[in-house]
Amino acid sequence: MFERLQALIGLGIDKNSLTYKLKQWKVDTSWTLFLDRDGVINRKLAGAYVRHWGEFEFLAGVLDSIPLLMRYFGRIVVVTNQQGIGKDLMNHEDLHDIFSQLQQAVIQAGGKIDCFYYCPHLASQQCACRKPNTGMGFQAKSDFNDIIFTKSVMVGDSDSDIIFGQKLGMKTVRISPVGANDHSPEANVTVASLQVFTRALAGIEV
Ligand SMILES: [Zn+2]
Repeated sequence: MFERLQALIGLGIDKNSLTYKLKQWKVDTSWTLFLDRDGVINRKLAGAYVRHWGEFEFLAGVLDSIPLLMRYFGRIVVVTNQQGIGKDLMNHEDLHDIFSQLQQAVIQAGGKIDCFYYCPHLASQQCACRKPNTGMGFQAKSDFNDIIFTKSVMVGDSDSDIIFGQKLGMKTVRISPVGANDHSPEANVTVASLQVFTRALAGIEV
């Protein structure tokens, strides 16, 4: 009996659950999901850049999560800082090829990413597009004029992602694989992976 009760609580009745918290946002298909790339979609390389598809490794559950996320969000875009271009470690074509292969893998899994935005500049160039600056958000809004920032969620693993989302009035989700919840700035929710966020949103509590 006790186990059965526990199971019922797991169905989103528990007001401390992540699912319950996300339900308060009332996400529907008028919402947009902004995803950082490295550390959210694919494994981040310590001290290095993903320069070609051979170095790109999807994080667990991401490919299955995107089709599920599309039931909740009307649009999914990627916003990523790619300073490796500014450092001449790779070029625009290399990055476009990675996006193209990434998109093909997502499509094969039954999903789709609506657009990829990237900042190729060096931090020292002080451009408007490098997160935490908001240029990529406004570019997306100018391409898809029905984007409403207050009906958007930014998912990222870096402070710059959270600040970007907060500046634009978005809900923010920090990916922190080690489970640390003591980051500053604090996101609305902190989860271990995009998969955990997706499953909680769908009411499949993990
Ligand atoms: Zn830039």
